[in-house]
Amino acid sequence: MKQFDIPLLYKSSFISRIKNSRKINDPKKKDFTPALLDFGPIKFYIARHFGFCYGVENAIDISNRIINENPGKNIFLLSEMIHNPGVNNDLLSRGVQFLMDTSGKRIYNWDRLTKDDIVIIPAFGTTLEIESELKNKGLDPYKFNTTCPFVEKVWNRSTQLGNQAYTIIIHGQYNHEETRATFSHSAKIAPSLIIRDFNEAESLCSFILDESKEKEFYQFFKDKLSPGFDFSNDLKRMGVVNQTTMLASETDSIAELLKKTLSIKYGVAEIQDHLADTKDTLCYATNDNQESTYGLSNVNADFAVVVGGYNSSNTTHIVELLDQKFRTYFISSADKILSPNTISHFDINSKKEIRTNGFIHEIEPIHIILTSGASCPDAVVDLVLRKIISFFPRVKDMDLVLKEFE
Ligand code: SF4
Repeated sequence: MKQFDIPLLYKSSFISRIKNSRKINDPKKKDFTPALLDFGPIKFYIARHFGFCYGVENAIDISNRIINENPGKNIFLLSEMIHNPGVNNDLLSRGVQFLMDTSGKRIYNWDRLTKDDIVIIPAFGTTLEIESELKNKGLDPYKFNTTCPFVEKVWNRSTQLGNQAYTIIIHGQYNHEETRATFSHSAKIAPSLIIRDFNEAESLCSFILDESKEKEFYQFFKDKLSPGFDFSNDLKRMGVVNQTTMLASETDSIAELLKKTLSIKYGVAEIQDHLADTKDTLCYATNDNQESTYGLSNVNADFAVVVGGYNSSNTTHIVELLDQKFRTYFISSADKILSPNTISHFDINSKKEIRTNGFIHEIEPIHIILTSGASCPDAVVDLVLRKIISFFPRVKDMDLVLKEFE
């Protein structure tokens, strides 16, 4: 795989060595069991795969080059480059400005953009409408483009489906930048509809089976349908693509449900005419991270710590999976561990940061799962690990643990 130039501040001498050692011993990623790091009173299970993915490293590398090569220029990012507060704050501290927030709300006056400015497209890509708006201002939206190739792959898949007269069902979060971009590209080619999860897929299937619910259908999927979507015609033939970071198991269930529903409606023998035979369009990093999370689910641990941006879709799915079996703490940085007893962490249900006491119990040894999302630097995971072991004066030396592991 292509190598990128990643600033030292995102790297970690400890975590990156663990990852490298796993890579060398298992280059084809056949083993998704976690690494066990034995510090004595504390034992960490570290996921087989986590942290910066291809698309994130690509975006960081390109953005750094743009910043270094263009001193004195106005440099803008359409919105957060990736969903990690540390990386985004670093860009802001180097003079980069954001044009929109993650929901697409403009936080800079676009009338002030000039053709001499630099606008970087983030890893999620952007909509055709924004591309066109930038072009109208004399800015080339492809010149400083960090769109991940795995996102572009989804757009290509949508185009293929559209060209075969399939309606495109996008399994994704309506407000996520990537899904907005994918929807914009697919809607140009074919009727398109976004479903967020299995529950929404069930609603869609009930509309497919009951044609008298046309009015309810338009209300339910308001703002999630391409312009001119035709309830009578556009639900007869469909293909599914994903936001690249969704839960693989949920995408499978949705495809199965659609297959069952369209088979009931049109007959099993006709299913190929009504549902494209597609594989999911999740990216390799999502698949590897989720497989590694299933690997973590098989261990016996006291609790799990997942590190990443709270608005990161792939990190949230890792939390959801681990939460089914362990007390799971979703934190954005080591600072969130306030003491051995107290942790401030993000609750994915209430979407709020909450404080929990009784974080680390006193019965040793303590087994902790540690992993992160695809946009989290190894350096941040490293700091979390160091913070936890700092509470235990009798832990083994880090070099010794590394040596024993390697
Ligand atoms: S998570 Fe996947 S699609 Fe998103 S930037 Fe990383 S590699 Fe690309």
